[in-house]
Amino acid sequence: MSGVATKTVLVVEDEEAIAEAVRARLQSEGYEVLVAADGPEAIHVHAERRPDLVVLDLMLPGMDGLEVCQRIQRDGWTPVLMLTARTEEADKVAGFAVGADDYLTKPFSLRELAARVQAILRRRERIEGSADGAPIERHGLLVDGRRRLVEVDGEEIQLTPLEFEILHVLAREPGVVVSRDQLMDRIWGYRDHAGGRVVDSHVARLRRKLGEDGNDPRFIRTVHGVGYAFKE
Ligand code: CA
Repeated sequence: MSGVATKTVLVVEDEEAIAEAVRARLQSEGYEVLVAADGPEAIHVHAERRPDLVVLDLMLPGMDGLEVCQRIQRDGWTPVLMLTARTEEADKVAGFAVGADDYLTKPFSLRELAARVQAILRRRERIEGSADGAPIERHGLLVDGRRRLVEVDGEEIQLTPLEFEILHVLAREPGVVVSRDQLMDRIWGYRDHAGGRVVDSHVARLRRKLGEDGNDPRFIRTVHGVGYAFKE
């Protein structure tokens, strides 16, 4: 760990036993761990301590995890790993739609949780320290990897980290068709049984933010049954 700054993880979970187990595991992995038991406390601690990652339970008393996730995303670029007791696909996709980076369904193993936390933080470091972070400019779109800045016709667009990464991967190689599985591999670092839909929900949200017209896209073309390509 020498020379590596300690990463701080905020764990938001109202079930004490789970919060404690997660805290102990992440501490043993070398993280500094903060714990919040409800939404308002989570938002306060996030604003004050600026953690590197938030592990966020979906079912919280008062303000639910989706709202907390939205508020955190509005306030900066912190990646979120969502914990959910519900197994329905719709809930998972809803989690991604508010900007969660990844999710785990309860009950989960602590080993799996630690692996996901590490994967998300690595991914973040990779994009922040990316050597090919030189700004990309095409069709009035600017993607600046180093400054994590996206502009359309000179106007700044707020993207979640995952939306940014998807755009960055596509815009780097215009005309190259990138399949959903390739996007899962390159961005999430693993494939999921529901991979296609997860990717699609992020791309749909990204397009809305870019002001895309579905019938005549300016930036991102859908290649039906395959994936996506940035327009040449
Ligand atoms: Ca809960």
